[in-house]
Amino acid sequence: MSSLITTAVPEGTLQQQATSINKEHTTCCYCGVGCGVTATIQNNQVIAVQGREDHPANFGRLCVKGSSLHQTQHSPERLLRPRVHNQEVSWEQALSYSARSFQDIISKYGPDSVAFYLSGQLLTEDYYVANKLIKGFIGTANVDTNSRLCMASAVVSHKRAFGGDVVPGCYEDLEKTDVLILVGSNAAYAHPVTFQRIAKAKQERPHLKIVVLDPRRTATCDIADIHIPLAPGSDAYFFNGLLSYLAQHNYCDAHYIAEHTQGFEAALSAAQKQVNNIHAAAAACDASVDLIAEVYRLFAQNKKVVTLFSQGINQSSSGVDKGNAIINCHLATGKIGKEGACPFSITGQPNAMGGREVGGLANQLAAHMGFDDQADIDRVAQFWQAPNMAQTEGLKAVDMFKAIDEGKIKAIWIMATNPVVSMPDADFVKQALQKCELVMVSEVIADTDTAKAAHVLLPATGWGEKNGTVTNSERCISLQKGFLPPAGEAKHDWQIISLFAQKMGFKGFDYLHTIDIFKEHAALSALNNTRKQTPARAFDISAMADITLKQYSNLLPIQWPVNQANPNGTQRLFSTGSFFTPSGKANFIAITARLPVLQAQRNEVIMNTGRIRDQWHTMSRTGTAPHLLAHTQEPYVDIHPQDARQLNLLEGQLVELANRGARYIGRVKINAAQRAGEIFAPMHWNAKYASSARADALVNPFVDPICGQPEFKHTPVSIVRHNTQWTGFLVTTKNHEPQCDYWAKITVQKGYVFRVAGVQSIAFDHWLKQQYPEVEQWQELQDSQGEYYRAAGFVASALVVVFNANQGHIGPTESRWLNDQLGESIEDGVRYSILAGNAGCDDEDQGAVVCACYQVGTNTINQKIRSGCQSAEALGQVLKCGTNCGSCIPELNAMIQACRSTAV
Ligand code: SF4
Repeated sequence: MSSLITTAVPEGTLQQQATSINKEHTTCCYCGVGCGVTATIQNNQVIAVQGREDHPANFGRLCVKGSSLHQTQHSPERLLRPRVHNQEVSWEQALSYSARSFQDIISKYGPDSVAFYLSGQLLTEDYYVANKLIKGFIGTANVDTNSRLCMASAVVSHKRAFGGDVVPGCYEDLEKTDVLILVGSNAAYAHPVTFQRIAKAKQERPHLKIVVLDPRRTATCDIADIHIPLAPGSDAYFFNGLLSYLAQHNYCDAHYIAEHTQGFEAALSAAQKQVNNIHAAAAACDASVDLIAEVYRLFAQNKKVVTLFSQGINQSSSGVDKGNAIINCHLATGKIGKEGACPFSITGQPNAMGGREVGGLANQLAAHMGFDDQADIDRVAQFWQAPNMAQTEGLKAVDMFKAIDEGKIKAIWIMATNPVVSMPDADFVKQALQKCELVMVSEVIADTDTAKAAHVLLPATGWGEKNGTVTNSERCISLQKGFLPPAGEAKHDWQIISLFAQKMGFKGFDYLHTIDIFKEHAALSALNNTRKQTPARAFDISAMADITLKQYSNLLPIQWPVNQANPNGTQRLFSTGSFFTPSGKANFIAITARLPVLQAQRNEVIMNTGRIRDQWHTMSRTGTAPHLLAHTQEPYVDIHPQDARQLNLLEGQLVELANRGARYIGRVKINAAQRAGEIFAPMHWNAKYASSARADALVNPFVDPICGQPEFKHTPVSIVRHNTQWTGFLVTTKNHEPQCDYWAKITVQKGYVFRVAGVQSIAFDHWLKQQYPEVEQWQELQDSQGEYYRAAGFVASALVVVFNANQGHIGPTESRWLNDQLGESIEDGVRYSILAGNAGCDDEDQGAVVCACYQVGTNTINQKIRSGCQSAEALGQVLKCGTNCGSCIPELNAMIQACRSTAV
């Protein structure tokens, strides 16, 4: 083991008393809301988590993912030891091999033949060291991150308009505004705690108008006054129309425009040329004239307006322009830099913002410096004492994997992310990695889809084990604390990178603790960062450059800039109307709106992708928690009733989507919240959890030409009913991949449930026994025509598998009681109950889980609605549903509404 590690200051409280109970303040590791968490720890186990009351992101709230952090903490799928070519080796062997291989490749083909692919899940300190190593020492800017898939468009929109990548507002603005326009954001699912704050503000101030612009009627519309289901990709037409409207009706702030901005005339002229009245906007957006007029009036006539935008804007081949079309309207009316008034880009990942601070994208340098200024490049090189500073931008994510396929990049190090699932055209990415000479993967989980492609697998510490900072969507830096010992031989990412750098012979990586890195990062933010008494660059945390270990270990959340002028942080920027451009004025950008690259052809529909309520990214962590798979158990496709009729699809049948040779199989959900001709498929499922449901494999690798962000929200796909001949379920203790055309895995307390289906008729008993040769004893039930089959398999009288299947499209579903019998010793008399699937008449089926926190099902809830509970609060009082994280409240309201409609 390296001396660096043996002499390192231990991080967090690694030694716990055997029986003591500790509480530690930390930060949630999932989304960009960045909630503060208090973890309760006993015997080196997190036994409970609560929202931290004093954290400004959540004030005590947590969503279901955050409140289940402890359930995903001790995964049996952890990667515990380094592996090279599938053999467990020592760290010394793994790092020596990796460094030598990198060096060989660089000496043969040059530094641009290697690349890093990072993640918004990394902590800022990890990110900083990775960026420093590759850009300053290896000598290439071929370093990109999965944040490219998330908010690269917003970064460029900000830079073009403000001269720096700045979110001007804060979460409080969402509560204090009078008009909140959410564009391309299903905050109820993607940013649940922010949504809860907005919902509460709406309850307290009913005059707060909430507008949702989204092709789908999502759960977020539960609190909306107006929902406009505009045509996918038409957002920039909407905002160009708004700019025209503001000018035409004299709502622009001429003084603000003259004093604090430039380029207004050109931007207005471009907008008017394309969308010069409300009717043109309605036609371009395929939306109601009246609704558009109402939203334009709301924007124009209220001083306090926030436009919150997210992936529906960013994940587009014209995402940068869409962001600027929004910002133009705020600049034209001076609705920026004031309480309750700003454009607000909300980030997806917990540390997307931290990655932007350290320059983790291929077209950035550190500390908001860039490659377009040689002085910046030289400045960073000198600060790092970098022997081999990259001089030009590197390859962005999509181009990086193309370069691997073409043999130009021969070694890649992927950290904390799963591109084989999350990249567009993900099958291509998988194939490209198979061609790559050296694939290194640092991971927490041993067998992600990407880890399977690794030649070198390096175990990294996870949440609760590692120390460092994250920055959320409102620029708030919080500490993620290490309070557990690393699992197995796992090391912190910054340590792994530093050791690797030392193996390559580089100096400047002798960090002993994350505070060393944080202080260097803070000092770099101050470098030449003044212009006429004000910072030249927005990112400035110079006041933290001399932070002590005690201060760092007890760091309270703080919003950057944190400098001499603002030692306690900065809630809002641009209050004085001064921006980070050379002139100090904000730039209007002339926008010519354009639609997505491809429209649907005959027999195609437009696929939109996105998040579901209880899962995170590619499920490598949240997929292991039974609670979090209880709400949405299988991949699915939301489809409009009209399309379902035309395609002859029924609710619950399997449907097959295809594009670029990739296919996705999911359950039909007939949903009038979709527009006709458009479907929705969740992005989460990976090859460990379903046979064919990596939705991003279908997505075309079209990108925004300026920022390189892919068009995830708009993919024409073919759609046909899956040719299901038989279907059923397996409830089993065995984690495997059933041999059939379709399967989807659900983790339950004592094992797994697989929903299975096939396209060819099979002899059920024969098939089952092939899947479970280890079973010693079978109990079976079959009809004489072979229409249905039930069987239970035992090993030493313990139940290890139950199979229930029938011919046809729609199969049986298992009960929770059945899942609980797994692994139990089942007496002969009870074995028929197992085949029946329930304990008898006392076993009431609660139905599909709606409230994940308290595991309350649809049947139970519907029963209470019918017996008089007519609000989410009333249901909460009797069933507790919706009373913890509140994520299910939109669904409870929808169920109440549906019940009322049926009654009418
Ligand atoms: S909203 Fe949920 S997932 Fe996001 S940071 Fe908060 S608790 Fe974590």
